[in-house]
Amino acid sequence: MTLESLPIASLPTMAEVWQQTLNWQPTDQQQKQFQQLYELIVEGNRQLNLTRITEPEEFWEKHLWDSLRGIAPKQQFFSSLPDGISVIDIGTGAGFPGLPISIIFPNCQITLLDSTRKKINFIDSILSNLSLTNTKTIVGRAEEIGQENKHRQRYDLALIRAVGTASACAEYSLPLVKQGGLAVIYRGSWTPEESKSLKNAANQLGGVIELIEEFTTPFTNSIRHCIYLRKVVNTPIQFPRAVGIPSQKPL
Ligand code: SAM
Repeated sequence: MTLESLPIASLPTMAEVWQQTLNWQPTDQQQKQFQQLYELIVEGNRQLNLTRITEPEEFWEKHLWDSLRGIAPKQQFFSSLPDGISVIDIGTGAGFPGLPISIIFPNCQITLLDSTRKKINFIDSILSNLSLTNTKTIVGRAEEIGQENKHRQRYDLALIRAVGTASACAEYSLPLVKQGGLAVIYRGSWTPEESKSLKNAANQLGGVIELIEEFTTPFTNSIRHCIYLRKVVNTPIQFPRAVGIPSQKPL
């Protein structure tokens, strides 16, 4: 079964779901690439434990749709994804949210970072299969990459999904973002207490919470949140702290 022909009870076509939820539709070529991505991930998953999400409907919703929803605050794709901007996906795992964004924005420079070599090796094979020449990979820890001159404060946009507490995600992402740029933290549930601790963490890292958006996913009606942090001043040099500290002692 192809992803674009999934039978969805209440909505006639996948094209309509994209249109209604993101005010956008993929081209035929992008749909083809989504399908190839799906097949490559299912295939790779037979040998590598990459993701638990392999059923077509779940893959479409949790990997494709959710990845793209994060860069469409207020249901509009970022007007700030102009050609040439640099995007980093931290703790990309099997390539989410970064790979769908690479497919949709071929003129953005995308970097996919993960600490696990086997995941990055697998992503390298996907990039070559899908001819995604706009995307490169790094094996490493966000705590170390964030202290390297060639990465620190170099990215317009940082994305981070399912890599730890919101405060740890802020410490992994904000040091990599340029002043004026954004970090997007993808979350499931969200509480006022988390907002409070994230506000405090972001403040120490040179960022502010610009927007917290709650939305529901189109098939399973699951609640999701994206938190948009704006980098307003340079991150002090002591951040990110050494490997393991952001998760063990969140700011
Ligand atoms: N972002 C993907 C997603 O949402 O499907 C993968 C999430 S997976 C639960 C977390 C990933 O983050 C793993 O692949 C892990 O290797 C990576 N990771 C965890 N801590 C990291 C760090 N400090 N630096 C870089 N990668 C990290």
